[in-house]
Amino acid sequence: MIRISGVDKKFGDREVVSGINLEIRRGEIFALIGPSGSGKTTLLRLINLLDHPTRGSIAFDGLSTDGSEHERLAIRRRMAMVFQKPAVLNTTVEQNISFGLQFRGMEQGQIRDRVTRALEMIGLSGFSKRRAITLSGGEMQRVAIARALVTEPEVLLLDEPTANLDPLSTGIIENLIMQVNREKKTTVVIATHDMAQGQRLAHRMGVMMDGQLVQAGDLYEIFYHPVNRAIASFVGINPIRGGVVESNEKNLATIAFGGVRIQAITALDKGHQVAVCIRPEEVTLALPGVCAPASSARNCLTGTIQHLLPFGPFTHVHIDCGIPLKALLTRRSCDELGLAKEKQVTATIKATAVHVIPDT
Ligand code: ADP
Ligand code: MG
Repeated sequence: MIRISGVDKKFGDREVVSGINLEIRRGEIFALIGPSGSGKTTLLRLINLLDHPTRGSIAFDGLSTDGSEHERLAIRRRMAMVFQKPAVLNTTVEQNISFGLQFRGMEQGQIRDRVTRALEMIGLSGFSKRRAITLSGGEMQRVAIARALVTEPEVLLLDEPTANLDPLSTGIIENLIMQVNREKKTTVVIATHDMAQGQRLAHRMGVMMDGQLVQAGDLYEIFYHPVNRAIASFVGINPIRGGVVESNEKNLATIAFGGVRIQAITALDKGHQVAVCIRPEEVTLALPGVCAPASSARNCLTGTIQHLLPFGPFTHVHIDCGIPLKALLTRRSCDELGLAKEKQVTATIKATAVHVIPDT
């Protein structure tokens, strides 16, 4: 749907995004995630043809966007963008939503139909005559989304649509985004600094850091195979540092952390300095001595429980096995195992669940 090739954007001397290559597929929800200042808004504005790339090109549905202003406008009209701070006009909700259609010279009856449908979709049917500036932040954001939706865009660009909103309004807006994508097949690109939001909404995501798209892929790739330490931390894994590949036999490597050895799947050769990422849900705990040998390569480490942290219906168990490990268990299995601080446990982790990254 949208192909971004080798795009850089400079403001003065400052390169704000660089070397972006990305394809947004038709009908998907794509989340651009990354910390504040990483270039998400800049990239969305480039996609929306509000700015020109300094280098590289963007194609929309196979069409070049380097053409005349007239051609660019025709492409822009196939998209709609909702900005982070929604600008509502000091008029009624209805007039706010119909503004773009009036501007396009659409026939009044058709405008009324579309506005009515949009109000239903955002759940504000009774609000058409209300003045928009009297709405709550969440309602205003829904009006801003409705204003984008009435133009029936093929691509909806959303810049941090729920930043500063309460959890209830955030939930309503997230459901609305998923509904639009499902029912209208609208391609959605959403910028968010909220990893969990990206995880809830997106089919695929791209992680931006310092103006670069460091990794793009489906959720599994990002969460289980982050390409570097920064992304690993961002997706909630603390990489365990200080490892060295001691041997590697057809990609089944032994990694030494001082005296502790871990088996993992990696192509990195003997001698490489590495960090490993282990998702807490991949760590199985048992009482000491209960480590079943299995056909696939498994790690079996014994350690002492440092502390237990409640996490909703789960508990994070921090264990010192010579390396710091974290396991995620249900409260019930914690109780059943009688886990407590200072107790000894055995942690089992499949070699395939240990993700290895170069430690640089
Ligand atoms: P994000 O949306 O991820 O927070 P932005 O794309 O807004 O990041 O900004 C990335 C960087 O580019 C920031 O350091 C910001 O200050 C800078 N920047 C954005 N727009 C401009 C501009 N018009 N002129 C100069 N610098 C800008
Ligand atoms: Mg931004």
